[in-house]
Amino acid sequence: MTETEVDLFVIGGGSGGVRAGRIAARHGAKVMMAEEYRMGGTCVIRGCVPKKLFVYAGRFAHDLEDMAGFGWSVADARFDWPTLIANKDKEIARLESIYRTNAEAAGVTIVNSRAVVEGPNTVRLLATGEVVKARYILVATGAKPTLGPDIPGRELAITSNEAFHLKALPRRVLVQGGGYIAVEFAGLFRALGCEVTLVQRAEVILRGFDEEVRSHLATEMERSGIRMLCGRTLSSITLTDTGKAVRLSDGTEVEVDEVLLAIGRLPNTGGLGLEGAGVDLDAAGAVKVDAQSRTNVPSIYAVGDVTNRVNLTPVAIREGHAFADSVFGGTPWTVDHSLIATAVFSEPEVGTVGLTEEAARKQGRALDIYSTSFRPLKATLSGRQTRSFMKLVVEQGSEKVLGVHIVGPDAGEMIQLAAVALGLGATKADFDRTVAVHPTAAEELVTMRTKTR
Ligand code: FAD
Ligand code: NDP
Repeated sequence: MTETEVDLFVIGGGSGGVRAGRIAARHGAKVMMAEEYRMGGTCVIRGCVPKKLFVYAGRFAHDLEDMAGFGWSVADARFDWPTLIANKDKEIARLESIYRTNAEAAGVTIVNSRAVVEGPNTVRLLATGEVVKARYILVATGAKPTLGPDIPGRELAITSNEAFHLKALPRRVLVQGGGYIAVEFAGLFRALGCEVTLVQRAEVILRGFDEEVRSHLATEMERSGIRMLCGRTLSSITLTDTGKAVRLSDGTEVEVDEVLLAIGRLPNTGGLGLEGAGVDLDAAGAVKVDAQSRTNVPSIYAVGDVTNRVNLTPVAIREGHAFADSVFGGTPWTVDHSLIATAVFSEPEVGTVGLTEEAARKQGRALDIYSTSFRPLKATLSGRQTRSFMKLVVEQGSEKVLGVHIVGPDAGEMIQLAAVALGLGATKADFDRTVAVHPTAAEELVTMRTKTR
């Protein structure tokens, strides 16, 4: 077998890998990339994009309910799950092909194979057995769903991977977990009309988010009809004539049609050969890297979820870009992980950037808190029972806005722009000086005058 030599071998054709490969190739590097499943990675194939399409599908149900108060009636509205799945699959295939075409157009050679590391400069392609010599190796293999403890009947449950390919919309769903994926899927299944039970081991959803955001969203989810069972885990799942019987740690039994485990994700480093090549992993199996995304082996770098830093698509993309510019473009830069906005596409949405009140207090900062909870204008005529929540965490003295937290429709859209302001070091006075856009929900962010505490 002849040996190929490249400047960069990228393992994984997802968000981080594709960006790194394309930019490195544009800088003149000879780049080869291995993808064992589908180009585009988690985000495109079974993450952000199909998830958001499902979220949109659910929101039409809300619109149908809300429109009556505005004078509209639609007779005989029906939802067809197979149509949604087929159209989603078509769109994902289109995006996958764009990812492939763009990478190839930049000069990247793509191989459809699992790749394993055999040394600091050696990769083997399992599909052909071919050995590739690389000046640099970039590990961008992402993460995969955790299955959790090996409880009886665990094989009867699905993860988010399978949720995108269900043949039918389950009538009754149990979702385990209280993180992004659990909260998002619980919301979208509920919006599509399913009976949803959310089981989580903590007392409140979304650990790490601002406490008031967590409790506000939990209340809203309960109000939407989701049954929230907290402080519990799954003990067993058994098949019955009419579904799946799930026994919980407190003895409760729930019968459903589908059980979705959304209890975190594990870095994809199993069987990758990294330890053999001398690369240090942490206790969770994530690749340890420095600010430049370099491992302890100088020729091997890693970006994205496999490093378990901030597991979001735009972060993986940025880490891949910084790596390629730094190593092949002669313009070194690093990613600032300190002020990253994020959205949870729950019902209603969450948008957050900067410090939570709890984190800011823990740092010993004296704070002024501004917050408001209000009924969105649309809900006045629709009659929907829902409230939005907004909060500014402001540092006393400097008057800097340290955190913005929103629960409500379009929170993800709003927080993107709030992130620009926080990145510029905006103070409360800057927010106050900004003339409101009326009537919007976002105007609340610039009209909160009275301190809550
Ligand atoms: P990935 O995109 O996972 O790419 C890794 C690729 O490597 C995969 O294609 C895999 O097949 C391949 N691979 C693995 N091992 C090998 C090997 N040995 N050889 C060859 N190929 C290999 N983030 C957001 O910012 N917003 C969202 O709304 C959002 N929603 C999400 C919803 C869900 C259900 C999930 C699961 C995740 C979501 N994320 C979201 C997170 C986001 O998808 C990830 O942070 C992002 O995809 C990470 O990119 P990556 O390049 O590190 O890895
Ligand atoms: P998260 O880490 O967000 O949440 C995991 C949840 O599972 C937590 O509630 C955790 O509980 C619980 N859990 C963990 N282990 C167990 C266990 N053994 N038994 C019971 N419960 C358990 O993971 P997700 O899988 O939801 O998502 C993975 C990541 O993907 C996210 O963190 C995020 O970075 C990314 N993502 C981003 C999205 C977005 O940007 N909108 C959407 C989806 C995913 P506890 O709180 O007690 O630890």
